[in-house]
Amino acid sequence: MYIIFMGPPGAGKGTQAERVAGELKLEHLAPGDLFRQAVKQESDLGNEVQGYMERGELVPDEITIRIILDKLDDIGDEKGVILDGFPRNYIQAVALDEALEKQNKAIDRVVNIQVEQKELVRRLSSRWLCRECQSPYSSSTADNPCLDGCPGCGGELYQRTDDKPETVARRLEVYYKETAPLIDYYRNQCKLVEVEGEGGVEEITARMIRALE
Ligand code: AMP
Repeated sequence: MYIIFMGPPGAGKGTQAERVAGELKLEHLAPGDLFRQAVKQESDLGNEVQGYMERGELVPDEITIRIILDKLDDIGDEKGVILDGFPRNYIQAVALDEALEKQNKAIDRVVNIQVEQKELVRRLSSRWLCRECQSPYSSSTADNPCLDGCPGCGGELYQRTDDKPETVARRLEVYYKETAPLIDYYRNQCKLVEVEGEGGVEEITARMIRALE
């Protein structure tokens, strides 16, 4: 089973993909996580992608497509996969369809998480993450002086460098120009389901799972 989670930056794709993957025993594959890890490790890949990420631009397709297709090969047929943040443009979507088709496979479902732009900017500019478990928190929680690290695992909380206001604006612009057109691409393939992305985290997870059933 191959499922794509789509939605603008700040829609909660990462959080929901992690939760739904846990509930449905699927692999969670996110290029953004792979790139952040590479940057942290200062690997060749990290050095290549860092500038794009800091500017809020997409990493070049040839790099992203190669990494995701290799990972899908590694995962094999044993487990279904949630793709979170891939594809992000038409070239990536076609490359993915073609690669799956060669193996007589296909995307099963695409879930589009809908959130108003005002709410996205609010969420991204107040978002803190745990360095260890990647759980997100809002600044009202993270700035609490009585809090010693992540409430879940005690890890250090930090803000993503690409969550600064000017980069957030660029990421949203890139999303609406490059990624949003894929909504129609998958709607035309009758694979799209829309899910309302505002509300409590658990409530949204339940909506996502219902949408996949
Ligand atoms: P995310 O964690 O999904 O918000 O992604 C963080 C950053 O990683 C993006 O702003 C891009 O620079 C890069 N990135 C993630 N997914 C892709 C993709 N499918 N294509 C190109 N760049 C990507």
